[in-house]
Amino acid sequence: MLIVMSHRATEAELDAVVKAVQDMGLRATPIPGSERTAIGVLGNEGYVDDLTIRDLPGIKEILHVSKPYKLVSRDFHPQSSVVNVRGVAIGEGCRPIVAAGPCAVEGEEQIVKTALAVKAAGADLLRGGAFKPRTGPHTFQGLREEGLRLLALARKESGLPIVTEVMSPENVGVVAEYADLLQVGARNMQNFDLLKELGRIRKPVLLKRGMSATIEEFLSSAEYILTGGNTEVILCERGIRTFETATRNTMDLSVVPLIKELSHLPIMVDPSHATGKRSLVPPMTKAALVAGAHGILIEVHPEPEKALSDGPQSLTFQGFAALMDDVRKLNSFLHF
Ligand code: PEP
Ligand code: MN
Repeated sequence: MLIVMSHRATEAELDAVVKAVQDMGLRATPIPGSERTAIGVLGNEGYVDDLTIRDLPGIKEILHVSKPYKLVSRDFHPQSSVVNVRGVAIGEGCRPIVAAGPCAVEGEEQIVKTALAVKAAGADLLRGGAFKPRTGPHTFQGLREEGLRLLALARKESGLPIVTEVMSPENVGVVAEYADLLQVGARNMQNFDLLKELGRIRKPVLLKRGMSATIEEFLSSAEYILTGGNTEVILCERGIRTFETATRNTMDLSVVPLIKELSHLPIMVDPSHATGKRSLVPPMTKAALVAGAHGILIEVHPEPEKALSDGPQSLTFQGFAALMDDVRKLNSFLHF
């Protein structure tokens, strides 16, 4: 429930409404705005009967928000959120950022070389999986903690902040020690114990959309993290499963403007996993920027044909540098 106060409401009237909500056993969060103050009501598990508050002075209207998510919604937080990842600002009004790097950290030379190459081409963040969620158990599972140490080394060499995946609640602590941005992969979007654990830390989280998740499910997963008190969440569209097999997934680009309508959280796009095909990554990167994405996540590998995972969708250093030239031109056209 959202209580919208009149712009003439006094401080005392606001306090009285907050107290009345608390007396109902619910939490009241005042949300100051440029034109009005609203009070977000949390803690209810169903419809709230507003009989005891609806006639209190200063109230303009009471909205019964029927969505399962509140903290992530624009109704509760009209102003767009900007998330800061070790000095890199991500969100509305900021230049769209590019996070680039290999699917998986495979060794020191590979990750440091890639970090320096993507940095030279203009990337803002370095990506690389240390804990890898692989479909089958007989494939490369990632270097785990050793991979985290190598990412930290690559950060030191290149100056780029790092984004890497965390797969289980037990590993949130160790991944948070190294990562500047913790990624939740598509397969774990509804790992609720993981999301709750990420709500307890104070580091930014990149939440990828599950491959069959609706937007309501996607935003409800983000709601878990914000409910824990961690408000630094960036959403990421990475393609969904459809009947189509010519591409790895179907890139659902309309979610970029849609998420912006529904939520104040930044939204990024991952054209690498969305398409699964190297040649499609540059055009879909540009499409995502035109649609208004706040950032792009791209896989880059020194020798894609030898990559231990996701080689077919990984760009070469040269391919990435060429794409970044176009990204800069496009960003200046888009006034960034
Ligand atoms: C990845 O970023 O390497 C990854 C595994 O992505 P997703 O969870 O979107 O499949
Ligand atoms: Mn990958």
